Amino acid sequence: MATQRTFSIIKPDATKRNITGAINAIIEGAGLRIIAQKRIQLTQAQAEGFYAVHSERPFFGELVEFMISEPVVVQVLEGDDAVAKYREVMGATNPADADAGTIRKEHALSIGENSVHGSDSLENAEIEIKFFFNDDEIVG
Ligand code: GDP
Repeated sequence: MATQRTFSIIKPDATKRNITGAINAIIEGAGLRIIAQKRIQLTQAQAEGFYAVHSERPFFGELVEFMISEPVVVQVLEGDDAVAKYREVMGATNPADADAGTIRKEHALSIGENSVHGSDSLENAEIEIKFFFNDDEIVG
């Protein structure tokens, strides 16, 4: 299996409830390494840009409002098959559909307030990592 990098966000519902460590324990327990990390307050423009692909969806306004409601933690994760592995560790978008032991099953509140984001492809991982990190901020 190839070593990959993927992009992760710990979302406002999780930073607000002080469970970033609990979430990262699941990530590290799955064998993924956190090789870059920062806690930031997203601007409206950043949130709209990051989720531009969803701009026509009915929940877009709600999603942007939620993502700027509290700080987030943005991270780069590295490991074998990291993109697919992190999607597995996150669980389904709607926590009601997520498997036991996944971050969303254990911690998410709803389909909107679902605690984490993870890139859905290697190509998007590269784009999303570049959106938030300079090369010199990533220490593998
Ligand atoms: P993901 O890749 O599993 O995060 O899911 P998507 O790419 O389909 O959606 C992106 C994000 O939009 C989700 O993680 C949710 O935070 C949010 N979202 C998706 N569907 C809904 C919805 O029906 N209502 C609300 N409020 N938010 C949603």
